[in-house]
Amino acid sequence: NTVPVALGDRSYDVRIEAGLLARAGEALARFDKGRRFVVITDENVGAHLATLQASLGGPSEAIVLPPGESTKSWAQLESLTDRLLELGVERSDHVIALGGGVIGDLVGFAASILKRGCNFVQIPTTLLAQVDSSVGGKTAINSRAGKNLVGAFHQPSIVLIDPQVLDTLPARQLRAGYAEVVKYGLIDDFAFFEWCEANAAALLAGDTQAREYAIAHSVAAKARIVGEDERETTGKRALLNLGHTFGHALEAETGFSDKLLHGEGVAAGMALAFAYSARRGLCSAQDADRVAAHLRAVGLPDGLTAAGITASGARLVEHMLHDKKMAAGTLPFLLARGIGQTFLDKTVDLNDVEAFLDEQPR
Ligand code: NAD
Ligand code: ZN
Repeated sequence: NTVPVALGDRSYDVRIEAGLLARAGEALARFDKGRRFVVITDENVGAHLATLQASLGGPSEAIVLPPGESTKSWAQLESLTDRLLELGVERSDHVIALGGGVIGDLVGFAASILKRGCNFVQIPTTLLAQVDSSVGGKTAINSRAGKNLVGAFHQPSIVLIDPQVLDTLPARQLRAGYAEVVKYGLIDDFAFFEWCEANAAALLAGDTQAREYAIAHSVAAKARIVGEDERETTGKRALLNLGHTFGHALEAETGFSDKLLHGEGVAAGMALAFAYSARRGLCSAQDADRVAAHLRAVGLPDGLTAAGITASGARLVEHMLHDKKMAAGTLPFLLARGIGQTFLDKTVDLNDVEAFLDEQPR
């Protein structure tokens, strides 16, 4: 399965195949002009690093970073760029990000500034990174003011996705990534949401075909949206933030800690976005209930209680206002007219959102 991402002279392919990691050397052969590849990964991805290095054949350097969100920092960016410069990486070389969204975001950003921009390859190893963060060229680190506030648009040269690397991913991380899969159905693809209802259990249990289908379908959706709005200027790309405004508030409330993974916050956030849409009479209560029921069925939080949030509506709205998506005093919300029919509403009254959140069971 190959999904093209059409971005003019920044176009690239996303290849999705079981066992692809062991064939990465072949897949990257056209980029290798006799130079080294530098692989950057984290400590939890060690088993896959060996497979990748073996497939690259010739000598390749590896830099292994500590796992976790705190790795997306100025300090790690500085030491990473220093080490890449020590290794003599040239603009024409390829640095390879082998890992989840943390490694992809950090390495992508380092590649965007190294010698004013060097090539990089994404080999995502979490479901979240495979269906979302590895495609689209957003790279970032976190700063004191918040998450992902310092970064660049820098597209990879190719994205290699091997669904088999998910076999070592903890079940909770897999489920969290699944939230971003079902998101594509909720945004604008009712038929895919129905597929998710029927196949999520198999996907989460390790069914390779279900995984490949879900990843390819998700990547195609993301590629289409990014192709229409690479730099999030027309509002199309903003659709990918479904559930993220509510979700961000929940994540902020838990201090962006392991108490609530990003995908878990997004799941609860999507349920809230549908519940709020139903309350406004935009979509039916049945649709909102159906979304919540599916999230519950796969073990994802479907609202505040399941996400363990007891904070007041006012406090959660406060968190939303600190989100980078705030533009000139308004908060863009993704609302729904139904499953697969979401739209951007820039005129949502925050007092109304606060009242809605206060009504939710705690
Ligand atoms: P992550 O990179 O922290 O990975 C989650 C955990 O799984 C880590 O402990 C990691 O070490 C481990 N891991 C990774 N692959 C593994 C494997 N195959 N087997 C066993 N363990 C493995 O987190 P994530 O959920 O992949 O990504 C979250 C990050 O992505 C956040 O920083 C978020 O801001 C970013 N993100 C970026 C974009 C974008 O467009 N750039 C989109 C969404 C999210
Ligand atoms: Zn997300």
